[in-house]
Amino acid sequence: MIKKINIKHGIIGELVILIILASFLIYQNVKENSIDAFLPTAEKDYIKWVDFDVSHTAMDKAYNYDVESQSEEVKLNWIELLAFLGARYGGDFSKYKEKHMADLVERLRSKKETMESITKDMKYYSYYLEAYTTILGGFVGEYEIQVPSETNPEEKVWVKKYGLKAFLPIAKNFPYSDYDDFGASRSYGYKRVHLGHDMMGQVGTPIVAVESGYVEAMGWNQYGGWRIGIRSFDKKRYYYYAHLRKNFPYNKSLEEGSIVKAGDVIGYLGRTGYSATENTNNIDTSHLHFGLQLIFDESQKEGVNEIWIDCYDLIRFLYRNRSETTKDMETKEWHRVYDIKDPVVDVYMEENSRNISKDFPMKPQIDVPVDMKIVKNEQESVDQGHSPWMLDPAYVAQVFVSQIISPEGIKGEYPIPYEDVEILYNSDENTIAKINGSTTPVRRVYMKRLIRQDKTGIWTVVGYDPVEQK
Ligand SMILES: [Zn+2]
Repeated sequence: MIKKINIKHGIIGELVILIILASFLIYQNVKENSIDAFLPTAEKDYIKWVDFDVSHTAMDKAYNYDVESQSEEVKLNWIELLAFLGARYGGDFSKYKEKHMADLVERLRSKKETMESITKDMKYYSYYLEAYTTILGGFVGEYEIQVPSETNPEEKVWVKKYGLKAFLPIAKNFPYSDYDDFGASRSYGYKRVHLGHDMMGQVGTPIVAVESGYVEAMGWNQYGGWRIGIRSFDKKRYYYYAHLRKNFPYNKSLEEGSIVKAGDVIGYLGRTGYSATENTNNIDTSHLHFGLQLIFDESQKEGVNEIWIDCYDLIRFLYRNRSETTKDMETKEWHRVYDIKDPVVDVYMEENSRNISKDFPMKPQIDVPVDMKIVKNEQESVDQGHSPWMLDPAYVAQVFVSQIISPEGIKGEYPIPYEDVEILYNSDENTIAKINGSTTPVRRVYMKRLIRQDKTGIWTVVGYDPVEQK
């Protein structure tokens, strides 16, 4: 009897080991197969799924290597370093050890190997490289930013930098709290998981654009309340900021299509949402819901194929870069203190300069072609203290119409007096001026601030309406 039991135990023991082995093999198999399913293939050639589990400590370390290497012979790319580890760990950064990254850096610095030679046999390296580039690709690079002048801290000066140009979504000096809440279940409407990151804070806290891009969606949504969606210029990232403040949710200069720069104030923290009725506070704890969606293919934008990633570690990484803001007591609007020049904004505007007038509240009858190179030069000239009249849209309209009347040049008085220019519409970005009087061939002049949408940005004429023929 005793012997029998022992044999039985022996068999059970072996069975247990076999089952563990088998399930481990099946698990490995499923894991490999599941990544394979997300890999691009010839017929469906885009990534179908990404789990973003890179820890903020690994991001910190890789970022520091990248920035430090800019003055060295061997340039290191932080996304490549992370993609190598992603491929090594199967995406699971709980396996991360500082030494693993240090070893890779050592190999690259020795110049005996390159990223290409090191990864040539790593089956999943290209997958992780594309996935992580899609998430982090707009974060690091060259840019210009204002800083306080050393001689006079009241003054600001522009400096060129290389490094992190993305910002934490909560403005500097405003407290918030958060925890890793991605995937937690929510019950409003129907049962679903939480596809974002909540940052608890005071109502009215300025919300800042993480990355530069354009406003793709704005308005009420029964889950998100007042929400704003900003698409990166490469169209791969959709940033979603929700539950914004009742009555005054957004920066008033914004509309669909507006360009925002990383660090700009886009709206204000609140507790709207969870209601089909517009402008309703139905969230108990005021917070920003921040979401980041990846779009490898436009078919993934809406519906069951959406990819939202866990932003908790990303937010911890972004904490080092917060945009300082100041309140305009007249408009109650918050504005950034230190402006940025992000090269991706210029590239986007140059590509779109021909249809730049499409965002106007009214469309001009005649478009005026814009040469962004000239506009940039003019802005630089104004920044250096020349031609301050370009900051005054009425003056810009007066000069424009005067030049149409006297194309050979203006001697003495302008043919259009300044008093005849009436501003019909004005925002940080757009102005429409009406020309009164009987001598003018132009009735309305349409202008845009193409470089900077604040007091220091020059106005450029992008179109006009001629006087109606009687
Ligand atoms: Zn949320």
